[in-house]
Amino acid sequence: MSYDTNNIFAKILRGEIPCHKVFEDDVALAFMDVMPQVDGHTLVLPKAASRNILDMTPQNLAALITRVQHVAKSVKLAFKADGLQIRQYNEPAAGQTVFHTHFHILPMLEGVGLKRHAGEMEKPEILKANAEKVRAALG
Ligand code: 5GP
Repeated sequence: MSYDTNNIFAKILRGEIPCHKVFEDDVALAFMDVMPQVDGHTLVLPKAASRNILDMTPQNLAALITRVQHVAKSVKLAFKADGLQIRQYNEPAAGQTVFHTHFHILPMLEGVGLKRHAGEMEKPEILKANAEKVRAALG
């Protein structure tokens, strides 16, 4: 399967569509998921084009996972989470719906479950406030 340069995350990376950004460097961009499965649901994606981890270079994947860890620690802090799930889907059969590689960071509280994947849109003001919390935790 090939990479579609018009996928929604490619448009966000090019600045054509807005996002609630929490982190950016030369390797990765991180922002709030618009249909969060839990408060604080954050996505981390590589700047380099790839459909999913199957077509990434090992070097780009290695660089990306360090950014996932960095953002994950701040999400955990920002949402006072007891733990975290890191999820990543490859191809439709596995649940992938946007075809630019990304990792989901899901802050988990004891006894609190997740809403369904790509379910309901969150209010922009809540996403904005949550992004601010993560950015504050990133320092
Ligand atoms: P996937 O199923 O590909 O692993 O997950 C794609 C994720 O992207 C879903 O959790 C969905 O809620 C999120 N998403 C889809 N469109 C947008 C968008 O335009 N902006 C943001 N921030 N998230 C999106």
